[in-house]
Amino acid sequence: MNGIARMFSKILIANRGEIACRVIETARAIGVGTVAVYSDADARARHVQMADAAVHIGGSAPGDSYLRGDVIIQAALDTGAQAIHPGYGFLSENPEFVEAVEAAGLVFIGPSASAIRAMGLKDAAKALMVKAGVPVVPGYHGADQDAGFLAQEAEKIGYPVLIKAVAGGGGKGMRRVEWAEEFNDALDSARAEARGAFGNTAVLIEKYVDKPRHIEVQVFGDGTRAVHLHERDCSLQRRHQKVIEEAPAPGMTPALRATMGAAAVRAAEAIGYKGAGTVEFIVDASDGLREDRFYFMEMNTRLQVEHPVTEAITGIDLVEWQLRVAAGEGLPLAQDQIPLNGHAFEVRLYAEDVPKGFLPATGTLSHLQFPPQARADSGVREGDTISPFYDPMIAKLITHGPTRAIALARMAQALDHTQVAGSVTNHSFLRALVAQAEFRTGDVDTGLIERHLEALTGDPVPCSRTCALAALGALGMDQITPFQGFTLWQPMTHLSEILWQDEIIVLRIAALGQGRFQVELADQIHLIEWRDDTWWIDGDKSPAQIVRHGAGTGAGTGAGNGAGVSVFWGNGYHFTVPDPLDKAETVAGDGTLIVAPMPGLVKSVYARQGQEVTAGDRLAILEAMKMEHVMTAARDGVVAEVLVSPGSQVEAGAALIRLEALE
Ligand code: ADP
Repeated sequence: MNGIARMFSKILIANRGEIACRVIETARAIGVGTVAVYSDADARARHVQMADAAVHIGGSAPGDSYLRGDVIIQAALDTGAQAIHPGYGFLSENPEFVEAVEAAGLVFIGPSASAIRAMGLKDAAKALMVKAGVPVVPGYHGADQDAGFLAQEAEKIGYPVLIKAVAGGGGKGMRRVEWAEEFNDALDSARAEARGAFGNTAVLIEKYVDKPRHIEVQVFGDGTRAVHLHERDCSLQRRHQKVIEEAPAPGMTPALRATMGAAAVRAAEAIGYKGAGTVEFIVDASDGLREDRFYFMEMNTRLQVEHPVTEAITGIDLVEWQLRVAAGEGLPLAQDQIPLNGHAFEVRLYAEDVPKGFLPATGTLSHLQFPPQARADSGVREGDTISPFYDPMIAKLITHGPTRAIALARMAQALDHTQVAGSVTNHSFLRALVAQAEFRTGDVDTGLIERHLEALTGDPVPCSRTCALAALGALGMDQITPFQGFTLWQPMTHLSEILWQDEIIVLRIAALGQGRFQVELADQIHLIEWRDDTWWIDGDKSPAQIVRHGAGTGAGTGAGNGAGVSVFWGNGYHFTVPDPLDKAETVAGDGTLIVAPMPGLVKSVYARQGQEVTAGDRLAILEAMKMEHVMTAARDGVVAEVLVSPGSQVEAGAALIRLEALE
């Protein structure tokens, strides 16, 4: 078939989010048309906008849309797509779906149903690997599920052991057991979780590997032969979920790479594997990386989330390979032609509440900016909502460099320039992690995050300089309009309130002219200056950026929601701005000057010159941000001057009405 294979003219992507966007990008680059599918919640999603055509397939819950194989196949037939790319998750490892796709006369971009079945259950897969001569973790993976018998096997293996659901995935149905006394309870809870997650309570028992490292090998098959594209190290995990991945694995030698690669290729060839797959190994690194201490864990029969690090070091587009091989081409390169250049990292940026135990969060991304120095794979844009229906991943950031240290430094820099507001995220956790001492030296294992959890998950607290910048932002200044708002009332003093989480911070700001401000809070005074498109604080140049954003509409928890201002200075610090028109701080200095706290249109003016007013009297109405705001007198007095009339367009800080104190 090689050479005469015809590429598809159109494919359907049975997925959403970043992976759907990722597949569409490559398809477009090689001239293949794309059809997206979408649920109610995704009607305006990025993948829908990117594809050439899109088909609505049902309700927001995955069971009503992305898991409905029949509806998806019909969509492919209706739109003239010849093949279906499953992405990862959803239907990607469902052999019945593969059979249905093929029965409909379409091509499934991935392995055969039988290859997926062979690797679907961990026990059967392990047995198969033993036959193929691939080392597996010592343990019991037989059919006898009697609790007493399993306890005996655990004893034979030697504690600590790991109980694993045979149908497991995503770390579910897995329990580490330290002592024989804990075995029965752990077994019960692993089974209960497995019943809920997979409807299958069967388990296997494995030796718990010491100083475990998760090293996986990317394989690619044409249905008969396979090659490997080197390894990835995914040891940085939290509760068995990957957080940062890299390639190659720190400390890997060419000899061990060849041995592990060959074992992975044997695994793939043993099941006639076609397409992209990953063979996962657990490595006992208690004595460095050794050829006799790596064990097969499982094979993932799909493209994986972390595939970009492999793309970065090989220069190969794995989705392009998937399409070419599915279209009937042979493997594009032989084993010895596959490059390995430098080092790459990937971090997974999630909408999650780290201090609350990494709880998935939702929210509307009122501000979103990825750094130019990294590859950012994302399914969302600024203004999009992270809904509760799907995985709350915002983006994957990938950096590459000639050495591990350079790739990691680039990642640290990329994270410094990543800006998200509108939902809580794991951004500062990732920043802390890339700076973590053991990780930086490459001394990784799957327990690293857990051991340093407290240090890594501390909520960053803004310093007084950050608060000062936020206060300027709250008054209408950010990097786009640095001192517009001050033109009319400098050199006045202005009291400003901002909220950090539930804490009210009061600041006094004096505009000194020419983009210079003095900001006072608690016992600190900072001189802030906007010069050369940069903020200078007390004479030092600061990389900080101030971003104002509207109210988030999502149900996210904690900081980051609500009308606010964010200061991005390495971490993102999100402040809420209390509605300034509810407050007396719309009044500068001694309360005699009523100023516009934001740009707007004067709708009505009630105050007349010479009129006596008492505190709280209505003086004018300002229409701003699609709302009417009533401007009231902050103190008793006489109206000395009315500086605006209905219809006036005013800037933030513009003087509206001046009062005079009563004698
Ligand atoms: P799942 O399919 O649920 O993701 P895996 O079998 O892939 O489960 O294991 C997930 C993670 O659990 C691994 O990456 C590793 O960190 C840890 N793990 C698995 N097996 C062992 C073992 N025998 N010893 C120590 N850690 C293990």
